[in-house]
Amino acid sequence: MKNIIIFGAPGSGKGTYSAELVSKYGLGHISTGDVLRGEIKAGSELGKIAKGYIDNGQLIPDALMIDILAATYDKCSGCQGVIFDGFPRTIAQAEALKAMLTERGHDMGVMIELVVPEDVLMARLLNRAVEQGRADDNEETIKKRFEVYNNQTAPLSAWFEKEGIRRVFRWEEHPSKDEMVKAICDSLDA
Ligand code: AMP
Repeated sequence: MKNIIIFGAPGSGKGTYSAELVSKYGLGHISTGDVLRGEIKAGSELGKIAKGYIDNGQLIPDALMIDILAATYDKCSGCQGVIFDGFPRTIAQAEALKAMLTERGHDMGVMIELVVPEDVLMARLLNRAVEQGRADDNEETIKKRFEVYNNQTAPLSAWFEKEGIRRVFRWEEHPSKDEMVKAICDSLDA
């Protein structure tokens, strides 16, 4: 199993770079945001619960999210590895992910952190609102999501560093998509 955790603020490009890595390395892709949006579209009970949190820019409670993640991961049992996109977002989720993988004889692999200045993130998300019409891509909810990211998710960066698997990629050093893809792939292939 070659697992990758892709980590960064809303709008940092987690989905975009996951797609590149999926096609280059033939990995499975678990985007917890996509899983939740799928449940909302399907009108399921889980979707109804998730919608309230997502529309307010808040995180879905850890216990629920951890169950969803484990069920989704077990569907990828035939994969060579998985990209975790949007999970973990809290220390509790990270601990649960590590335990879940250890139980299955797998490991977390590599963590890729995308660091992008907030003004660039805001511009990208407002642009995505026009292109994709995501309900949570409006200025008020974006600000809330940044706050949640800074308070609850960003501290995980140090957690991954302690695990010895963190690799940081800065927008300032690789401003175009192609440069960023190359830097990430060079690091993974080294
Ligand atoms: P994303 O598409 O990754 O930006 O996720 C969109 C929204 O889904 C987030 O703002 C959260 O409300 C929710 N969400 C996605 N992943 C998680 C997670 N790992 N933990 C809690 N909430 C999540």
